[in-house]
Amino acid sequence: MGKKKRKKRQGPRQCDGCTACCDGWVQINVKGYEAWPGHPCPYSTGQGCSDYENRPEVPCRQFICGWLLPDSPLPEWMKPNEAKVMVLFNKLNWQGLPVDVALPVGKRIPPRALNWLKAFAEQHGRPLIWAECIEEDGALQREQLLYAWGPPAFQAQVQQWQAEGRKLW
Ligand code: SF4
Ligand code: SF4
Repeated sequence: MGKKKRKKRQGPRQCDGCTACCDGWVQINVKGYEAWPGHPCPYSTGQGCSDYENRPEVPCRQFICGWLLPDSPLPEWMKPNEAKVMVLFNKLNWQGLPVDVALPVGKRIPPRALNWLKAFAEQHGRPLIWAECIEEDGALQREQLLYAWGPPAFQAQVQQWQAEGRKLW
């Protein structure tokens, strides 16, 4: 979640300047408030957290995006607020393979970042799911379009999960 100061101490990267996870680009519940695309946490200032010392353990203190991981394979330029994508590694398992999830920070993931993620998925044999926001009457919707990158059987599986209304992350 967005910080006034560095969130995690294990790695060299810092959240500073990014509040993507506080701003609803990953759907969260903070003290009973639902944050989702276009509906930030009420404590987010867009640059940090106005109640940082009192932020809850879940999700605020525990959440860490893929870019912030100490051993993150994501390049520097893929910081969520800059590359407009938030990656969540290993959110699902499909036939023994880790499945990564990429969420747009904005309506959709820009091509540069999406192409990087597809190449990474292929090189490492990690199926990828990415989301795109749905906009109606100028407002982003809670529901998102999901896309899958991986073997045809994986794509069929994601379609089935969606049809079942399964919560994927
Ligand atoms: S999206 Fe990642 S870098 Fe941005 S505030 Fe959240 S944990 Fe920090
Ligand atoms: S309480 Fe603070 S750290 Fe937690 S989601 Fe809201 S703005 Fe982010």
